[in-house]
Amino acid sequence: THPTDFLLAVEALTVSFDGFKAVDDLSFYVDPGEIRVIIGPNGAGKTTALDLICGKTRATSGSIRFRGKELTQLKEHQIVHAGVGRKFQNPSIYEDLTVFENLEISFPRGRSVFGALAFKRDAEVMERVEEIAEMIFLSDLLGERAEYLSHGQKQWLEIGMLLIQDPELLMLDEPVAGMSVSERIKTAELLHRIIEGRSVIVIEHDMKFVEDIAHKVTVLHQGRVISEGPMAHVKADPKVVEVYLGH
Ligand code: ADP
Repeated sequence: THPTDFLLAVEALTVSFDGFKAVDDLSFYVDPGEIRVIIGPNGAGKTTALDLICGKTRATSGSIRFRGKELTQLKEHQIVHAGVGRKFQNPSIYEDLTVFENLEISFPRGRSVFGALAFKRDAEVMERVEEIAEMIFLSDLLGERAEYLSHGQKQWLEIGMLLIQDPELLMLDEPVAGMSVSERIKTAELLHRIIEGRSVIVIEHDMKFVEDIAHKVTVLHQGRVISEGPMAHVKADPKVVEVYLGH
């Protein structure tokens, strides 16, 4: 396959911090509609890899093509605009606003109004908010202030705030950390819902959850890919057992 056929093609990506290569010659390719999970021990370079893709950190060398377009020289907001959404571990929701308002202010509406709360509640926005709320299991809580949501519901709300911007690639950093078992199951269901028309990259340590969601797993160790493929394949890979799963 030609690299431009993938939604995301990461090739020979490297970043050095004072000579230390946190990500070292990393290549991987994500298909449209794919859930890719990145696993590996602490310090393997997983977070840095996502930081590079979303433009938070600048690559030393290598390429990141998204729908064929080179991202490595773009600014963070340009990468968001290109269709890449990133959720960090700590939700950045507005605690004193309702679920509805949190989704509503995340609806993309051009340049100047960012941050302004004097938005118009047109039919399109209402419809989209309701659609997303249903997807993230919060339809019955649209009027609830976000501070009263459970930990898991807050995570879903933030995913919803990204979804309302309609990204083609969504990157999630440990989405089920701290969640209850039932919330974890619903999150797997949510991910399967959202890949219609988009791809997801997830960093995750919860292997049960990885088994539930991953189409393909990329295993990082010391900034490099040591194994890749379906979970059944990487689970049985002696290199993976040695550096990660065996612990
Ligand atoms: P993971 O997410 O797999 O736990 P990280 O990507 O957070 O790993 O970190 C990979 C390595 O890069 C770690 O050794 C970390 O200390 C180092 N690192 C990450 N960011 C920076 C930075 N801005 N400056 C220096 N070192 C960094």
